[in-house]
Amino acid sequence: MLKCKLTALSQLLVGAGREYPYIDADIQAIRLCRADGSLIPYIPASSLKGVFRATAERIAREKFEVCNVFSNSCGKEFSRELREKEEKGEDVEPLIKKLCKVCQVFGSLGFESPVRFSNAMPLLSPEMDPESLIDTQTMISIDRNGRANPRTLEYIKPGTSFQFTISFKTKAEDWMVGLLLKVIEMINQEKVQIGGQKTRGYGWCKIEILNLREDERGRCLEAWDRLQK
Ligand SMILES: [Zn+2]
Repeated sequence: MLKCKLTALSQLLVGAGREYPYIDADIQAIRLCRADGSLIPYIPASSLKGVFRATAERIAREKFEVCNVFSNSCGKEFSRELREKEEKGEDVEPLIKKLCKVCQVFGSLGFESPVRFSNAMPLLSPEMDPESLIDTQTMISIDRNGRANPRTLEYIKPGTSFQFTISFKTKAEDWMVGLLLKVIEMINQEKVQIGGQKTRGYGWCKIEILNLREDERGRCLEAWDRLQK
């Protein structure tokens, strides 16, 4: 399991529509309801996984063929065979190896992702009001008829830190962790943004891994670099 700390370097928009009627913003920060009824802004696991997968595709395409999960998922070809083998209790490993590298890590049609992301929850001291992490900005867009169209959106303030984990259902192979590390490198090199309003410079982040030794890191990155078709 990788324990990660994500810090927003710019405004971060992880938003939904008008979910809370008492909040005056057209795009509202996604909040999680805690046991005590209070709301806390967070980055959903699905958003993180989406960014990681899309970035992993960019990285993997430099060396390998990578399918398009939406139009032509490589799992399509094997999903029936995979299910049949699973039902018979046969070894599915050789079949999984036929999937593209990205599907092997992030899942595919008929093949559940071995990697799990948690939600990224903000690091808050108990006396801190979660709402203090959020600010609003009004964006004006001009519609077809030349009318100004103001929209207010909520964003997470720069400097806010979150914690999340990336874990594996079974023991991860080194190259898989290596690919995730490459994704994190891309994010840290400011080649990838998270969330919305990217063209306005939102979504730059830094991710630190809190529990990976330098030698493990080197071994995993090397495993990815060494990987052949
Ligand atoms: Zn694939």
